[in-house]
Order: sequence, then structure tokens, then C-alpha cells
Amino acid sequence: AVKKETKDSHAYYSTEIMEKNIRKVELANELRQAVDNGEFILLYQPIKNLGKKKIVGVEALIRWKHPVKGFVSPVEFIPLAEETGMIYEIDKWVLRTVSRQKKEWEENGLGYLKISINLSGSSLVKTGLVECIEDLIEEYGIDCSLLQIEVTETALMENIRESAVILEKIRRIGIKIALDDFGTGYSSFTYLKNLPIDVVKLDRQFIWDMMNVDQVDLIVKSVIQLTHDLLLEIVAEGIETEKQLDYLMLHNCDYGQGYLFSRPLSKEDIELLCCQHE
Ligand code: C2E
Ligand code: MG
Ligand code: MG
Ligand code: MG
Repeated sequence: AVKKETKDSHAYYSTEIMEKNIRKVELANELRQAVDNGEFILLYQPIKNLGKKKIVGVEALIRWKHPVKGFVSPVEFIPLAEETGMIYEIDKWVLRTVSRQKKEWEENGLGYLKISINLSGSSLVKTGLVECIEDLIEEYGIDCSLLQIEVTETALMENIRESAVILEKIRRIGIKIALDDFGTGYSSFTYLKNLPIDVVKLDRQFIWDMMNVDQVDLIVKSVIQLTHDLLLEIVAEGIETEKQLDYLMLHNCDYGQGYLFSRPLSKEDIELLCCQHE
């Protein structure tokens, strides 16, 4: 009986893994179609200058509008796109869409908005990326000092030397570089000093823990101070409460982003929001 049980549980386990893999292959096929059919849209989440209480920029966040399943979160499909090598095509689509949006906003009185783009670590080291960015800037004739590329610390670590060289090239074009999700990886302060970056984005886990976990408030305070000492700017992600905002402002955090201000919005809603604030 024992033997049979082991065998059965093993069989059950395999079936579960197999079903999971089938779903993954299905989703990968659908993702391929999504890339070909253009089923993506970008939402934009406002980023506020905390001192001036003004929206100074937005972060472009991708959404997959699946024909049957509705909106699929990037948390689900970006890792799959990375695994299957489709991410570069997706990231290039984002770069183009943002460039077009930047141009449109420059023509509509919203040229002051800085747009931040998330780039996967594998796209960063693809041959031709820098040229692709240069071509887009020339094609759309946009102000690249108001473009920013976000790369996560974890992504950079995978290919630290090569990534640093490319980030430096992107930076020479005039585009700002932000280190995303700071605090979730190794968070070595050495990276802050040595990498060609302009901005640090403090991960939202920190902002949450700040009010709930002992001494995290002190860490946040120190990271803000350190960032400033290194002449970098700092953005707090995931601000959801007034209490979090007050603490961050007390310690001179430069920028903030989170549901307290706004969820990610369509470009039309960004336009409405920014007009209301003027
Ligand atoms: P991220 O770059 O760190 O983006 C911030 C995420 O936090 C977004 O999730 C945003 O909607 C969410 N968020 C913002 N404020 C709050 C808040 O107050 N509370 C909470 N709980 N969440 C908040 P989203 O849009 O689901 O994106 C998840 C991740 O997917 C992004 O994390 C980024 O790593 C990746 N991603 C999104 N768009 C793109 C893209 O165009 N290209 C690439 N390569 N990755 C992308
Ligand atoms: Mg980001
Ligand atoms: Mg982030
Ligand atoms: Mg994140």
C-alpha cells in the first residue's frame, strides 16, 4: 500500500507540473500573437515632486489586453517574455510608444512631463539597443533630458560590467537612468557609487515596512541621506498613506509615486489630471 501511495503521489505531482507547463506554453503562444497583433497598451502613473506637490513625470507601465482573459498583469507576462526571448520586441514597442507619446505631449503643453520607461535586463544588453534609442529620438525629435530608463538592481547584477557600459552610453545621449526596486536585491551601496545612475527608486516594500517593521524607518531615512550625499535623486514607490508621505517629506525624499496620488492611468486621464492641476 505504501508503495502504491508513493507512486500515486508522484504521478499526481507530475500531472500538476505537466498542467502548469501546458498552461505556460499556451500563454507563451498567446503572447507571441499579442506581440504580432499589438495587444499591448501603456498606462502612466504620475510621479510627484513631494516638496512642490506637483506632478513632474509619469512611469509607463505596460498592460496586455488579452482578447479573452482581459487585462493580464506584467508581473505574469514579463517574466515569460524574458524566458521566451520576446521581451526585446516588447521593450522596443514600449520605447517607440513612449517616444510618440512624449512628442504628442510636447505639442499639447505637457512637454514638462518626464517619462520613465522600464527596461528588462536582457534588452539592455541586446546589440543595437543604443542605436534604436538614438533613432527614435531623432525620428520624433524629442527632448531626451525628460526621458528616463529604469533598470532593476537584480537585472543589472546579472551582467554588471556590460550593463554599466551600455547605461553610460544611454546616459551620454542625455537620458536619465534610474535604479528600480532598490532594496530588493543585494542593495549594495557600492553600486550606487559606481554605476552610471541618476535616480534611485526605493522599492515599495520599504515604504510599507517603514511604518510596520521596527527600524525600517531609520533605514529609509539613511538611504535618502546617502542618496543625496552621492548627488543622486530618490523616488519613493508605492506611497499609499498620508503617514508614509509625511515621513518621507520630513526626511526630504525628492519624489513619490503611489496609489495615494494616483493609480496608473490612460494617457487621456493623465491629460485630464495634469490640466486640473494647472
Ligand atoms: P515597477 O517598475 O517597480 O513598477 C511599479 C509597480 O508598482 C507597478 O505595477 C505599479 O502599478 C505598482 N504600484 C504603484 N503604486 C503602487 C501602490 O501604491 N501600491 C501598490 N501595491 N502597487 C503600486 P505593475 O504595473 O503591475 O508593473 C509591475 C512590474 O512589471 C514593474 O514594476 C516592472 O518591473 C514590470 N513592467 C511594467 N511595465 C513594463 C514594461 O513596459 N517593460 C518591462 N520590461 N517591464 C515592465
Ligand atoms: Mg519601474
Ligand atoms: Mg519599482
Ligand atoms: Mg517592481
